[in-house]
Amino acid sequence: MSGRLVLLVFFAIFIPMKTIDLRSDTVTRPSAAMRRAIANAEVGDDVFGDDPTVKELERYVAELLGKEAALFVPSGTMGNQICLKAHSRRGWEMLCDRECHVVNYEAAGPVVHSGLLINMLTTERGMITAEMVRANVRPKNVHCPETKLVELENTHNRHGGTVLPQDEILKVREVCDEFDLIFHLDGARIWNAHAATGIPLAELVAPFDSVSVCLSKGLGAPIGSITLGSAEFMEKCLRERKLFGGAMRQGGIIAAAGLYAVKNNIARLTDDHDNAKLIAEGLNRLETFSVDMSRVDTNLIIAHLNNDESSDTVAEKMQSVGVLAIPFGPTKIRFVTHLDVSRADCEEALERIGKVLN
Ligand SMILES: *Cc1c(COP(=O)(O)O)cnc(C)c1O
Repeated sequence: MSGRLVLLVFFAIFIPMKTIDLRSDTVTRPSAAMRRAIANAEVGDDVFGDDPTVKELERYVAELLGKEAALFVPSGTMGNQICLKAHSRRGWEMLCDRECHVVNYEAAGPVVHSGLLINMLTTERGMITAEMVRANVRPKNVHCPETKLVELENTHNRHGGTVLPQDEILKVREVCDEFDLIFHLDGARIWNAHAATGIPLAELVAPFDSVSVCLSKGLGAPIGSITLGSAEFMEKCLRERKLFGGAMRQGGIIAAAGLYAVKNNIARLTDDHDNAKLIAEGLNRLETFSVDMSRVDTNLIIAHLNNDESSDTVAEKMQSVGVLAIPFGPTKIRFVTHLDVSRADCEEALERIGKVLN
């Protein structure tokens, strides 16, 4: 064998296959340019209010989203929980979709932190309609809990990255005004709703009293979320952030990554959405999966399993060929596209999945 061939065989056998990680858009790592922004960040003590990079990030995102004020917090969970707590009194009731993140993935935060009673409504694609809100606001009398908050999630994670209908959100706002309800948005992936619809970010969040957005999902920052609302409300959130232990010192080190992310990584989200369609269509060609294409609005794909194999088994088989995705209950698997997987990676993932499952 020629030396070159030996080398080729050697590499084919011993070079590990590149892992294609489609578990979540949180797995992205800071790019070289983002790391430079982090390294060059001007910092100060943000608890004293003098970290210029944190201030710049808060100012930039508040303006981008058309809200009076913003507050940098360590995670989306903390962002949601701080907002809910700053809004509410123990024993108040919140209406939300049954599949929402604040109920399913935040360790019972709304009850533990805020003493909220949760009314989980069953919805089609994550949208609580104005009619549903109206039907679920309790009468004002001494026996009943006070219905005081409505929470929505856009895009909606467990419904498959679905974008909520903006015209209906505006109608919910009217009902909130009528019944004096507070309207909170879990906008962890609001960037994707914007990229999918072309509706300006400020217009998407305008109907809400408060919003929490993530920098560490599709935008690719390593850490960080932001809460937004009125200046008065952000003052309350500032106190809650301290209480939660989320006040940070030289926060500019991570805020710099967030600033880089919002300035550079929003427009490219449409690539992730195109890649998600590619994967969804590819999975639909396999016997194992069926994907409801009408739900592939953004970068999430929920694939239903057609046979009796458990999602754990299928995920393990895919893992054996270096493709990672998350079992989403016993009969579904979630795939997520993001800035660390290229179109070629997605094509490669489909090819490997096709081989190992058929
Ligand atoms: C990821 C996510 C959050 C926040 O998650 P953290 O991991 O705490 O940053 C909140 N809501 C939704 C819909 C999410 O997907």
